[in-house]
Amino acid sequence: MNRLRTPIAIIGAGPAGLLLSHLLHQQGVDSLVLERRSRPYVERRVRAGLLEHTTVELLRRAGLAGRLDREALRHEGLELRINGARHHLPVTELTGLSTYVYGQQELVKDLIQARQEAGGRLWFDTDDVTLEIPDGGGPCTVRCTAQGQPTEITCDFIAGCDGFHGISRRSMPATAQPAFERSYPSAWLGILAAAPPVAHELVYAAHERGFALASMRSPHVSRLYLQIDPDDELEQWPDDRIWKELRARLDVDGEAGLTEGPVLEKSLVPLRSYVSEPMQHKRLFLAGDAAHIVPPTAAKGLNLAVEDVQVLSEAFAAFYGSGQDTLLEGYSQRRLPSIWEAEDFSDWMAHLLHRLPDAQAYGARLQRARLDALVNSPTAARQFAERYVGLSRSFAGAGKERAWQS
Ligand SMILES: Cc1cc2nc3c(=O)[nH]c(=O)nc-3n(C[C@H](O)[C@H](O)[C@H](O)COP(=O)(O)OP(=O)(O)OC[C@H]3O[C@@H](n4cnc5c(N)ncnc54)[C@H](O)[C@@H]3O)c2cc1C
Repeated sequence: MNRLRTPIAIIGAGPAGLLLSHLLHQQGVDSLVLERRSRPYVERRVRAGLLEHTTVELLRRAGLAGRLDREALRHEGLELRINGARHHLPVTELTGLSTYVYGQQELVKDLIQARQEAGGRLWFDTDDVTLEIPDGGGPCTVRCTAQGQPTEITCDFIAGCDGFHGISRRSMPATAQPAFERSYPSAWLGILAAAPPVAHELVYAAHERGFALASMRSPHVSRLYLQIDPDDELEQWPDDRIWKELRARLDVDGEAGLTEGPVLEKSLVPLRSYVSEPMQHKRLFLAGDAAHIVPPTAAKGLNLAVEDVQVLSEAFAAFYGSGQDTLLEGYSQRRLPSIWEAEDFSDWMAHLLHRLPDAQAYGARLQRARLDALVNSPTAARQFAERYVGLSRSFAGAGKERAWQS
């Protein structure tokens, strides 16, 4: 059995775990990151793409935005296509802020490179991770198989950054972790295609056949999504069917603006919302998708993960700098108002744009009224834009003593 010690064991080398490790290093706190997948796998996993202004600013301050600043696409608005009519939403004009398109896998590559250049410890292909968090306080233990060897790591704290399906949240006693969740009667089929984007901005289509989103990763690569039935399998969606359906939902006056190209990647995502409240148990702290997820419609998950680890890294730095544990104790309390703002907006946007099961029902009439307001009312457009760029999150919970449990 190999044995070692680290101040902080970070489970998961996704954006949350890698960025936390980097921010801790910059504040003089050592950590060890354990990842169950291989480095090539995490560097190729295609997921998020839309980054908020504050996320990009944080990456710049942390010295991580060199390639991002050269390659990311800066967006100043978005296009809505509602049953075949176009509406432009000038997001930057309404808020003063831009959004950025930069693939999550590119960010992960940048983060891994930065950690390796700084001599950070990243263990890929680490299996059988289990966590022991003593009830009475004191050091935690992480057991795993690393490089084929049984290994025991003693640490002061564990940061659970291992996503929605990871081990960390499941290591909290159920009584310590009331969860709030909602599932949606839809899934997303996503493709990455070697084809130029439909438009220079993101196109969100609310169509009677279902929702579609035309995004991009570069001037030559498109990222396209379709709302599909949650029980559908990938085999039911050959490439021809996907292109045909995208064309139908994105169509405006017989023109969808879609150029077809080889499909490089294809995946299914169920739509769900989830919040673990609190986000901590004794010396275990959850961050990113391990603590909360949102339907991807509003593109908030990665942005929330970045905010979580910023707050968590400050709390750990305060603990190691001056022995203060007030920030650690208040971690959930500090994060939950923003998280619930994003949960609300993501849920609202999912209901706004997805085809509902019964077009004659009350919910479908509400959807129509909300879409009408969004395209006709400057106030509704401004409020949408503020939430879309994440501006409203900075006000969530501000100046109030919220009664979040921690
Ligand atoms: C289709 C889609 C589109 C999206 N678009 C956007 C967007 O545009 N903008 C946005 O902000 N967000 C978006 N998101 C959400 C975003 O991808 C996630 O919020 C983000 O990946 C969260 O990062 P994370 O580090 O918390 O978790 P993850 O990225 O899930 O990383 C967790 C890591 O932990 C590892 N792990 C899991 N279990 C273990 C274990 N037992 N031991 C060790 N390691 C383990 C995993 O292999 C993984 O590497 C999108 C998501 C999807 C699915």
